[in-house]
Amino acid sequence: MIKVAGLIKRFGGQAVLDGIDLAIEQGEIVVIIGPSGTGKSTLLRCLNFLERPDAGQLTIGDLEVDVTRATRADILTARRRTAFVFQNYALFANKTALENIAEGLIVVNRWPKARAHARAREILERIGLADKADAYPASLSGGQQQRVGIGRAMAAQAEVILFDEPTSSLDPEWVEEVLGLMKQLAAERQTMLVVTHEMSFARDVADRVIFMEGGRIVEQGPPDQLFGAPKDPRTRDFLRQVL
Ligand code: ADP
Ligand code: MG
Repeated sequence: MIKVAGLIKRFGGQAVLDGIDLAIEQGEIVVIIGPSGTGKSTLLRCLNFLERPDAGQLTIGDLEVDVTRATRADILTARRRTAFVFQNYALFANKTALENIAEGLIVVNRWPKARAHARAREILERIGLADKADAYPASLSGGQQQRVGIGRAMAAQAEVILFDEPTSSLDPEWVEEVLGLMKQLAAERQTMLVVTHEMSFARDVADRVIFMEGGRIVEQGPPDQLFGAPKDPRTRDFLRQVL
């Protein structure tokens, strides 16, 4: 359903993504782990054209493009089909929880305001924040803010939700409620690509875990295999440090 082939991204001549091949099935939960500076965020950002890749073929549903030739319309389609959850939530400070969730539906999907707000209320119910509809981000806990960030991604009804270290900015007390919401989505078979350092989430929830280093996929497999019997010495070294 989502496929990239030969994805390359350079910053200042250096290949930060050095030929990534990746396919994700509908309903699949894929977790990416790896040291920092290894290109994990850049990979997610390239799928969403937050970064413009230097080479590669991208397939999302019936959209198939050479990334260097993607038109404005292709990029908008890719963005509609991939929702992003940011480490720092990236909520609009001057909009309420309800408005943050509704905003993309109004601006990107061109829904009438009333319809977008009705959908946002449904989402607030599902993320357990119905009573916070009119709250501004500053008055919410970190965990609540990130749940709004996830709610916004849910509202988009994208093919895949891309999570970039969604719990890394949270105080420890809020981590579980955010992981809990992600587990709920996984149980509903929402297709997800998740960059995280939460190894227990990877172990419990992922269908497949990918270990990245130096802009490449070093090794991947079901969590039992990757955590239990890693093949590559680089994977073993990394796991020794984090487990
Ligand atoms: P990770 O998410 O695995 O920590 P990133 O994808 O953020 O890694 O970054 C990979 C490499 O690309 C790092 O060396 C980082 O400094 C570099 N990088 C990321 N974004 C930019 C940018 N906008 N300009 C220049 N270098 C960047
Ligand atoms: Mg990152």
